[in-house]
Amino acid sequence: MLIDSHCHLQHFEVAERREVVARARARGVSGFLIPAVRLSEAEELLAFCDSEPGVWCALGVHPHDAASWQAGDEQRLRTLLAHPKAVAVGECGLDFFYDHAPRDVQERVFRAQIEVALELGLPVVVHNRESNDAMLAVLEDPAHRGLAVDLHSYAGGPEMARRAVALGCWFGVSGMVTFPAAGNVREVLPDLPAERLLVETDTPYLAPVPYRGKRNEPAFVVEVADRLARELELTAAEVAARTTGAFHALFRRTGGGFAGGPD
Ligand SMILES: [Zn+2]
Repeated sequence: MLIDSHCHLQHFEVAERREVVARARARGVSGFLIPAVRLSEAEELLAFCDSEPGVWCALGVHPHDAASWQAGDEQRLRTLLAHPKAVAVGECGLDFFYDHAPRDVQERVFRAQIEVALELGLPVVVHNRESNDAMLAVLEDPAHRGLAVDLHSYAGGPEMARRAVALGCWFGVSGMVTFPAAGNVREVLPDLPAERLLVETDTPYLAPVPYRGKRNEPAFVVEVADRLARELELTAAEVAARTTGAFHALFRRTGGGFAGGPD
């Protein structure tokens, strides 16, 4: 059994979403985490999560949409996160590659969401692109000690990895691990704690080999996990057990309820 820890199923209409989930289940994918990118989609995502077992969501604002953050959104986010299927804050973070929102705005909105996560004892699903230094400054801020972090689709290189491991972060392994040119993604894998690796598709983006160029979907997390197994010289069953264990340890869910109470 595998869990796709990062799939933007909101890109599919609901009927097709159910087909996509069914195709993944047929390949042994039993869990799905849908990260929101803006608060306006939260209610619809929660309704979908309620209608499907093994489907959870993260709620938050992507750095691309950081400029949409308004006064009162912290409270709105807190209220939305009271739903039992909302298991994390995100997708939030920094993106200095696209710079769709000014960098100072991205950082302010990221920090505001971290405050909510810390307050509620929830992990954050983090997007980081071309922003390693600023990201580390935020994550290493002493005010953020104890924050649980999923560095989704990790491609931050060895120095970032060393510091993120020291912080106790989790690392999302995406279809990039199969890309011939992504040696940087594979090289760092042995340096990451095996019990903190998650697998993900980042659907509809980053389809793994042999589906490159196609629309990605959670069924293809099998190819991601297979490649991860090859890189780490583990069996597919070992990778499934470790990454599923890591998912539950981070997002603390078993069968739709909290596995444990707050610390
Ligand atoms: Zn994403």
